[in-house]
Amino acid sequence: MVDVRLENVVKEFDGVQAVKGINLHIKHGELFTLLGPSGCGKTTTLRMIAGLDYPTSGKIYFGDQEVTYLPSYERGAVLVFQNYALWPHMTVFDNVAYGLKLKKLPKEEIRKKVEWALELVKLKGFENRYPTQLSGGQQQRVAIARALVVEPKVLLLDEPLSNLDAKLRLEMRSEIRRIQRELGITVIYVTHDQEEAMAISDRIAVMNVGTVEQVGTPRDIYERPQSEFVASFMGKTNVIPAKVVKREGNKVTVEFESFRLDGLHYDGDGDNVVLVIRPERIKLHPVENAVSIEGTVDLVEYYGFFTEVVGLFGETRIIARTISDREVQGLRPTQPVTFYINREDIIVLPKQL
Ligand code: ATP
Repeated sequence: MVDVRLENVVKEFDGVQAVKGINLHIKHGELFTLLGPSGCGKTTTLRMIAGLDYPTSGKIYFGDQEVTYLPSYERGAVLVFQNYALWPHMTVFDNVAYGLKLKKLPKEEIRKKVEWALELVKLKGFENRYPTQLSGGQQQRVAIARALVVEPKVLLLDEPLSNLDAKLRLEMRSEIRRIQRELGITVIYVTHDQEEAMAISDRIAVMNVGTVEQVGTPRDIYERPQSEFVASFMGKTNVIPAKVVKREGNKVTVEFESFRLDGLHYDGDGDNVVLVIRPERIKLHPVENAVSIEGTVDLVEYYGFFTEVVGLFGETRIIARTISDREVQGLRPTQPVTFYINREDIIVLPKQL
């Protein structure tokens, strides 16, 4: 079990930087996720950690050992590919045993280790099947067993759930978490799905065009985004352009549409800002000391265990979410509505996008 460090890692393809000097410290035993939109450099970063690709510059460490240019098999990292890459002509047993056979371990030891790995992924009894005789989820488990059987220091998973249907995805998500906890292994996980990242990770690095925008726990990232990009990438949220019109220390008054909101916290530069407000933090009933804005109802959308009210405030649409049926009873489009928001639930960030 090791921690993994990336220092100023750059990767260029044909003179274009796909990864632009990133620094990361992944602690041993944690499930760490690289999250970001397509093309932001997640897979490239993972492949450099795996040793399947080498940085143009910068350094990678596993514990105290520099591994930047060490081949994959010498650094003890195993990557599970998105498409599993199982050998179709080999049984489950032989697929899982493959890496151990390469190491020329005694037969009996191989059998024991394969048994252990298949038990871990709950596939005991499937030894003699071929990959085509398995479901997507089972193939995924074989790929994970094959990776774990060689006892890697670091397990790397690239969009491991993207080929599975919605139900299996949830099931495998918990399975991966269970296995990771059981073994206490360092896992680096790549996904573009923010909900998946939130559910599975100890910490997340949010990436954007080859850079790391923020690293933190799912809660940090969701509740305290440090940039407009992170805020808007992490789930449905209100991002409202506004202007700072008054400053006293780190308290500001901002304006958007015809509204003036005072007493908000902001320590950034520049007067062009966005107000980030999570829909579930907006109340439809009066709240003491909160700011309030008056508009009209644009839409009421029922989602089962919550309802969203889209309000129109001038030209700006703002979404509020409530679990109370009573609060939305009788709300109809074009009717007046007031949204109440505690000042600490309004995150003011420099305008970026
Ligand atoms: P996705 O979620 O779509 O897989 P990603 O975040 O994993 O995206 P990467 O695959 O790391 O992104 O790609 C980052 C950038 O580097 C992209 O612009 C991509 O086109 C470019 N790139 C990746 N591999 C190569 C390569 N071998 N040659 C040239 N450009 C590449």
